[in-house]
Amino acid sequence: MNWTIVGFPRIGEFRQLKRATESYWKGEITQAELKSRADQQCSEQWAVQKQAGLPQIPVGDFSFYDQMLDTAFLIGAVPARYVSLGLDQLDTYFAAARGYQGEKGDVKALTMKKWFNTNYHYMVPELDDETRFELDFSRLAEQISRARADGLEVRPVVIGPFTFLKLARLKGKKNIADYLPGIAEIYKRLLAEIAKVHRGWIQIDEPQLVKDVSAEDAALFTRLYESLLAEKQNKILLQTYFGDVRDCYSQIISLPFDGVGLDFIEGKKSFELLQKYGFPKEKILFAGLVNGKNIWRADYAAKLAALKKITAVAPSVTLSTSCSLLHVPYSVKNETKLSAEVTRHFAFAFEKLEELAQLAALAEKEDYASDPAFLENRKLFGESPLRSDPAVRQRVESLHEADFHRSEPRRERQNLQRKVLAQKLLPTTTIGSFPQTAAVKQNRSRFRKGEIDKAAYDEGVRGFIRECIALQEEIGLDVLVHGEFERNDMVEYFGENLAGFVFTENGWVQSYGTRGVKPPIVFGDIKREKPFTVEYIAYANTLTEKDVKGMLTGPVTILNWSFPREDVPIKETVCQIALALQDEVLDLEKAGVRIIQIDEAALREKLPLRKEDWHTDYLDFAIPAFRLASSKVQPETQIHTHMCYSEFEDIIPSIDAMDADVITFEASRSQLTILDSLRANHFETEVGPGVYDIHSPRVPGVEEIKSALRQMLEKIPAENLWVNPDCGLKTRGTAETEASLKNLVQAAREIRAEIPQ
Ligand code: GLN
Ligand code: ZN
Repeated sequence: MNWTIVGFPRIGEFRQLKRATESYWKGEITQAELKSRADQQCSEQWAVQKQAGLPQIPVGDFSFYDQMLDTAFLIGAVPARYVSLGLDQLDTYFAAARGYQGEKGDVKALTMKKWFNTNYHYMVPELDDETRFELDFSRLAEQISRARADGLEVRPVVIGPFTFLKLARLKGKKNIADYLPGIAEIYKRLLAEIAKVHRGWIQIDEPQLVKDVSAEDAALFTRLYESLLAEKQNKILLQTYFGDVRDCYSQIISLPFDGVGLDFIEGKKSFELLQKYGFPKEKILFAGLVNGKNIWRADYAAKLAALKKITAVAPSVTLSTSCSLLHVPYSVKNETKLSAEVTRHFAFAFEKLEELAQLAALAEKEDYASDPAFLENRKLFGESPLRSDPAVRQRVESLHEADFHRSEPRRERQNLQRKVLAQKLLPTTTIGSFPQTAAVKQNRSRFRKGEIDKAAYDEGVRGFIRECIALQEEIGLDVLVHGEFERNDMVEYFGENLAGFVFTENGWVQSYGTRGVKPPIVFGDIKREKPFTVEYIAYANTLTEKDVKGMLTGPVTILNWSFPREDVPIKETVCQIALALQDEVLDLEKAGVRIIQIDEAALREKLPLRKEDWHTDYLDFAIPAFRLASSKVQPETQIHTHMCYSEFEDIIPSIDAMDADVITFEASRSQLTILDSLRANHFETEVGPGVYDIHSPRVPGVEEIKSALRQMLEKIPAENLWVNPDCGLKTRGTAETEASLKNLVQAAREIRAEIPQ
C-alpha cells in the first residue's frame, strides 16, 4: 500500500532553525548564512524521509516562521505597513512576524492565534479593501527545485484559499465573498506556475473544513474549487485534518479532486461519512490513521483493522498521518535519559515514518498476524505495571456524585467567606507569580547544575518569598501570593511533582515562530506522593497577617499542555490529576491556607472545534474535573480560579458551573462585552477582570485603572468585584510591577471611597 505524511516538523532536530534565525535577528549571521543553514536543514530532513522509504516528499511545509504567513506572502496579501518599510523580502516577512522597530519605521507584528485545537500559533493574515493579490511564487519554486535537485519526488503543499480567507482578519468593508474571485484567480495562477516546474501531486490543506461549516460557506468552498480545479494540470489532493468534514463531505467528494485526505483520529465521524455517502472509485483516499499529534506508537492491529474497513468502501487508499507531524518532536533516539521500557512506547516524527512504512507493508500481506513486525508491535499493548496503578484506578472508580460538589451553595459560602476572611469591598490581589528576576532564575539553575544543595536552594526561595511578601505589604495589596519563585513553568512544575509524568530532553514542539515547548508526557496513572506546594505557601503565610493564596495549576490545564495517554480515556486521566490536586488542596487547607487558587489558564484550548461536540466531548468532564479538585474544602475556604483570556463568552454557564468562589481573567481588550454577558447569564462567581495588561511593560495610571473599575461597576455588583492585573507578573520587571500595583491599590482605594456602604 502507498503511504505518505501530511507534513514534517521544521524547527530542526536540535532546534537548529531557532538558533540560526535568532542569530540572524541579533545580527550575528548574514541572511545568506541563515538561508544556507535552513537549506541544509531541509535537505537533511528530506534525506531522513527518503531513507525511511517515503515515496513522495511534501515540500512547502518548511517555514521560517509560520505557514499562514508564508501563504500571505505567496499570494501577496501583505499589509502595506510592512511593505512600505522598504526592507528586503525576508526582513519584510520577519517584520510582519515580529514587528519592526528601527530606522525604517515602527510597526507592530500581525496578531497571533492558536492553530485550531493545537498549541501551535499562526500569524493572522489581514485583508483590507486595498488588498490586491499578487503571486510571489519564488520561495516555493526554490524549495521545489532544491528538493528535485536532491533527487526527490516532491508534492508541493500549500494552505488552501478557503482556510486562508476564513482565518484572515477582514479589516475593510469587503466580506469574504468579495475576495473570492481575486483569490480564486491567484490560486489558479499558482497552480499553473507549479505545473510549469512540477508534474504529479499538489497538496492543498483545508483544515477549516473540519469546523462548523455553514451552508453558505460550503457553497463558497464549492464555488472556489470549481473555479480552481477547472484548468488543473496536476493531481490535486485536498487535505483536511483535526476533525471530520461532516458539514461538507458530499460537496468535497463531488468536486474533481484526485485525492482527499481525511483524519481518522480526531475525525470521529470520518468513517461514518465514508459508509454513508461512499467514496468515488476514481479518487484516492488519504487515510489519516497514524496520529500526527501524539507521541505514542500506533497499535498495528487496530490500524490494520481500520484500514480493512476503509478499503472496503474506498478501494484506492494511501496510508497517511492524521495531520502534519509538526505537532510532535523529531526523534525518540535523542532521548537518552528515559529508560527503554518507557521510550519503546514512543513514536516521534522519525519513528512515525517507520511505522507508516511497516503498516503499509503489512497491509499488503494476507497473514500479517504472524509477521515479526506485527508481533513486535503487539507486545507494546499489554498491561504494564509501569503504567497502571490499581489504587489510583480504584479511587477513580469509587467516586460519587457528591465528590464533585461543595457542601454549601455558592451564595451562602460567599457570605460566610466575606465574614471569616474579613474581606472589604473591591479586594486587591495578583494572579500569582512575581517577576522572575535574574537572581530567581540563577537560584534555580545553580540548583539544577548541582552547584548548590537543596537546603541552599530552599533558603534562596524563602528569601525571595520574604521580599515578595514585604513588597506586597508595602504596596498595600489585600490578598497576597508567595510569588511562585520555585516554578519555571506552571505545568512542568506540577508534572515533576506528580507520579505518572515523564519528561523528554529534546522533545521540542514548535509553539510559534522560533519558540518551542517541551510538553510533559502522561505516561502512567497519576497520583501525588507527597505535598509539594504546602511548605512554601505555609511559610509565606507565617510572614504576614494577611491571607496568602495557595497556588495550584488546575487539572484541565495540566492535561491540555501535556501529551495525553491513548491507552486510557482522557476523562479518566483528568480525574486522576484532579484527585492528586484534591490531596494538595486539602493539605493546604489543613496548613491554614484559607484561599486557594486553581489556575485553569488552558481551559478553553481543547474545546472541540464543533459546537455540537463541546459538551459531550469536553465540558462534561473538564468542568467536573475542576470541581473534583476543589470541592472537598470547608465552605469558608475560598476557591479562586484564573483564566488567561476572556474569550469564554460562549461558555459562561460552564465557567460558572466550575463553582469557584472567585475568577480572575484577562479583560483589558474585550472588557465590556464580556461583562455584559456575565450579567446576562446571571454569573454568580465573584470576578476580577484584569484592570491592566501585563503583556506590556507600560505602567497604567491611577485614573486609567479607576476608569476601568467604574466601567466594571456599571455591570457588576460591587460586592462581586475584585481588583487585579490580568495575568501573572513573572515576565515583568520589578520596577514597573511595583509602580503598576501601587497605582492599582490606589485606584481601588479611591473607588472604594466612592461607594456608599
Ligand atoms: N498563577 C500563574 C502566574 O501567575 C498563572 C499563569 C497563567 O495564567 N498563565 O504566573
Ligand atoms: Zn493568565
